[in-house]
Amino acid sequence: MDITQARARLERERDRLVALRQSQGEDAALDQEQADSSGSLADYDQHPGDQGTETFERTKDLAVREQIDARLADIDAALDKIEAGTYGQCEICGRVIDPARLEARPSVRYCYEHQQQSDDAAEQERLFGPD
Ligand SMILES: [Zn+2]
Repeated sequence: MDITQARARLERERDRLVALRQSQGEDAALDQEQADSSGSLADYDQHPGDQGTETFERTKDLAVREQIDARLADIDAALDKIEAGTYGQCEICGRVIDPARLEARPSVRYCYEHQQQSDDAAEQERLFGPD
């Protein structure tokens, strides 16, 4: 893919994600307020007393924000690589990434093989913490 085009797509996606994260952040702050002052939930919650759903929704919001942050990190890394002239190369082995994968997702950081490993590592970290 053309570098100029890749950069334009990355920057557009970045703007979209930043806006999305801001709106998510506001929702989370609102949730926090409502959690602190229980009783004001009734007009907001369609199913008063369904605490499980409440908790699930909050957890889901948090997971969405984590995904947004992760995608933003990928996009920033890709933009850095464009600046450095290494865009389109795997960050681990330096091999050229399949252009079709870059086309589908310009922020992809690794070749197919190392993407699998990276996903595993991210999953491990999510489950067991950074150590
Ligand atoms: Zn690789």
